[in-house]
Amino acid sequence: MENYIAKTAKSKILYEEAKNHLPYGVSSNYRYFDPYPLYLSRGKGSRVWDVDGNEYIDFNLGFGVLEVGHANEKIIEEVKNAISESSILGFEYSKSIELAKIIKSRFNVDMVRFSSTGTEATMHSIRIARAYTRKKKIIKFEGHYHGSHDQLLVNVNPLRDGIVPASLGVTEESLSNTIVCEWNNLENFEKIVKSSNDIAGVIMEPVAMNMGLIPTNVEFLKGVFELSKEYGFLTIFDETKTGGKMYSGASGYFNVRPDLIILGKAVAGGFPLSVIGGKREVMSVIGPGKTAHGGTFNSNPISVRVSILTLKEILTQNSINYIISLSKELEKGYNDLAEDLDIDLKVSRWGPSGSVFFSDKMPSNYKDFISTDIQRWNTYFYSMLSQGVIPMGGFNEEWTTSIAHTKEDIQIHLEKAEKSLRLAKE
Ligand code: PLP
Repeated sequence: MENYIAKTAKSKILYEEAKNHLPYGVSSNYRYFDPYPLYLSRGKGSRVWDVDGNEYIDFNLGFGVLEVGHANEKIIEEVKNAISESSILGFEYSKSIELAKIIKSRFNVDMVRFSSTGTEATMHSIRIARAYTRKKKIIKFEGHYHGSHDQLLVNVNPLRDGIVPASLGVTEESLSNTIVCEWNNLENFEKIVKSSNDIAGVIMEPVAMNMGLIPTNVEFLKGVFELSKEYGFLTIFDETKTGGKMYSGASGYFNVRPDLIILGKAVAGGFPLSVIGGKREVMSVIGPGKTAHGGTFNSNPISVRVSILTLKEILTQNSINYIISLSKELEKGYNDLAEDLDIDLKVSRWGPSGSVFFSDKMPSNYKDFISTDIQRWNTYFYSMLSQGVIPMGGFNEEWTTSIAHTKEDIQIHLEKAEKSLRLAKE
C-alpha cells in the first residue's frame, strides 16, 4: 500500500476535502476503499488517469460498463447528435421503439420497458412478479447483488454469515417477504420452495459477479427452472452485469428463457439505461391503474441512441468474440502464474470477465467466497494499482476487457500481476 500512497498524494488531498461534503468522499459506497478513494479525472480507450496524472490500464471499466472503451469516438459523435435534438422530451421518445425491437430479438423477450439503473429495474421486476402471480415472497441468493433497494439488500457484501441486511436502515419488515437461499445448492432451494406456497419469483445473477465471478452449476440452474414451473413462480435473471458480456447475455448462453430479464450497464455504452424485458403475458401486467412502472429519465434520447449504436454497431458478435479472447488470455496467464509461483489461487472466467480468488478451492457460493484470503487480495490489489493497472473494481468484483484493450495491455497486466502475486504470497 505504501507505493500506492506515495503515488496518489493529490487523491489524498482531495479526499480530505471531499469527506466534508460527501460521506466518505464518494457518491457510491462501492467507490470507497482504504486508506482513501482514487480520484480519476479522465479516460480514453483502455486507459484512465487520476488527479496525480498517473495512467492506469483499466480493467474495472466503470464496474463492467465500458466494454466499448472510454471516450469511444462513435459514441461521442452520437451523443453530440442526440443532444442537439434535446436530452429529454418528457413524452415517449420515438426511437425507444427501435431499441425495444433490437433488444427483443437479441435477448429473446417479447416486451420491454426502460429504466435508468439496475437498481430501479430489479425493484420493478419483483413488483411485476408479485402482480402477475398474486403471491408475495421473492427468493434471492446469498452474495447476489441486485442494487441498493431495501427488499433485496440482504446477504451481500458484509463478510458475515446468516441473514444479514447489507445496510443499516433496512428493516426486518422490508425483508419479511425475502427468502435467502444458497447459490449453486439445489437441495437448499428445493427445500425452501416446498416450504411455502406464496413464492412469486426467484431473482438471480445467472453468473454471480458480486462475490467475485463464481461459475454457475448448470444442473443447479436447470433444477431452478424446473422447480419454478412445477411450483408456479417466475424466474428473473438479473443480467445487469451478464447481459452485455455475451452476445445474448446469460439466458442466450445457458439457452433458457426466464420470465423476466434485467439488463443494464454495458448495453448502453456508458449511459444510464436499464431494461426490464420478459414474456408478453408477464409484461402485460404493467400499465396505468395496474402495475406501476415509471421514471422521468426512462428512455431519454441520449441513452436510447447510444444504446442503439452500441448494440447494433459496436458490441457485435465479432467484438464480443474479441473481448472474450483477451479475457481468455488473462485467465490462462493467471493460471500459469499460479502454477509457476506455487500459490493458492483460483481463476474464474465467464465471457470477457473473470476473477482471482486467494484460495485452494474455487468458491461456489457466498460462504466459500468469504473464506477466501481477502488480505492477500488487498496486497495484490494495491500492488497492481501502484504499477498502473486497475485489475478490477474491488475484491468482490471482476476484470472486464473492452474493444479498446489490446494483447499488449493483457501482457502488461500479467507482468504486473506476477510481481503482485509474489508480494501477496509472502
Ligand atoms: N444488479 C446487478 C447484478 C449489479 O451488479 C448491479 C450493480 O452493480 C445492480 C443490479 C445495480 O445496478 P445500478 O448500480 O445501475 O443501480
